[in-house]
Amino acid sequence: MYDVIIVGGGPAGATLARLLGDRMKVLILDQRDLVATPGSLEKCCGGLLAPDAQVMLARFGLGLPKAVLASPQLFAVRAIDLATGQERFYPRNYINVKRESFDRWLISLLPPGVEGRWGAQFLDFRRDEKGVEVSFLWQGKEKNATGRILVGADGAQSGVRRKLGHSPSAGLYVAVQQSFAVSKALPYYTAVFDPAITDFYSWMIPKDDKLLVGAAIPAGPNVLSRFELLLKKLGNHGFDLGCSVRRQGTSLLRPMGHGTLYGGENQVVLIGEAAGWISPSSAEGISYAFRSALVLSQALEQGHEGAFGRYRCLSKSLKFNILGKRAKSPAMYWPPLRRLAMGSGLMSIDIIQ
Ligand SMILES: Cc1cc2nc3c(=O)[nH]c(=O)nc-3n(C[C@H](O)[C@H](O)[C@H](O)COP(=O)(O)OP(=O)(O)OC[C@H]3O[C@@H](n4cnc5c(N)ncnc54)[C@H](O)[C@@H]3O)c2cc1C
Repeated sequence: MYDVIIVGGGPAGATLARLLGDRMKVLILDQRDLVATPGSLEKCCGGLLAPDAQVMLARFGLGLPKAVLASPQLFAVRAIDLATGQERFYPRNYINVKRESFDRWLISLLPPGVEGRWGAQFLDFRRDEKGVEVSFLWQGKEKNATGRILVGADGAQSGVRRKLGHSPSAGLYVAVQQSFAVSKALPYYTAVFDPAITDFYSWMIPKDDKLLVGAAIPAGPNVLSRFELLLKKLGNHGFDLGCSVRRQGTSLLRPMGHGTLYGGENQVVLIGEAAGWISPSSAEGISYAFRSALVLSQALEQGHEGAFGRYRCLSKSLKFNILGKRAKSPAMYWPPLRRLAMGSGLMSIDIIQ
């Protein structure tokens, strides 16, 4: 029997496995093959490590290898309000990474004792007083594994959360991201606001010889038409987007409404985006994936008995952090306040060419 079975090898699951692997018997499984050659499944993400994620890497004593970095590194955010035409630059530093390489690097750090099942799809779980039996599809066959605790680190569309009967009913967005081949990289991260497209935001991120254009749009039938409108408006605003390479889409859980944050139950615990741990103001989620994994590893220091209660208690600071960001959101997302904030120029910088 495993002490912990982790579903999902993204930043949350990989970090938890790394922190527990030397002291517990851990099984981690992911539908992606994160150790062999890259497959067709790739996490749709901007791949920017915000200052909070950088602090977590510092706390973990980790330095990033060159192979995961994308060009250019970024020191400014250009905010554009397409509805009013306002524009401002704000200083903020991001480490720009290739998300797939970053995830693979995190997996490469797992202690040798951690068992991995790659290309394995979680199906279901069953609980009894001894533990949790997890079933998954691996190499074309249904397999079972039993653990004392099951951890759902399987992202915004968490199957583990769904099986707990706690699918979020509010805060569901669809993130659409399209990459374009460009000859010259924009030297900043662009955040685009326009209520005609979304009540959240859209972005442009330079990534080596590509430009990622994305938007988080409330889930609904008109997601793609709104995204097309964004591309059109960016073209009208003067951006030459170049040749389209590919378009991806995925769910994004924005913790705005009641009940979006959910840490699970006894024996079945959720971390990372599966639990709703993501910034409601910027959709920055990698630092929360790291932090929730750290908190659960601390809760498991005294063993699995009572670990869920300790996790709930220790993750209160994460919850307050998210509620704090939610309270600050209107300054960015309520058009009259955003107009005032951008108009004031507060905290903005001038770009000297
Ligand atoms: C378009 C977009 C852009 C973003 N940009 C940024 C950014 O620039 N910076 C930032 O900090 N955050 C960003 N985020 C948020 C960030 O990507 C997530 O918050 C973060 O990846 C969460 O980590 P996680 O480990 O919880 O989940 P994930 O990274 O989603 O990992 C979940 C893992 O579970 C696996 N999985 C899922 N279902 C199953 C199953 N049934 N069986 C087996 N395995 C399964 C998946 O393959 C995946 O590897 C962005 C999100 C989106 C959607």
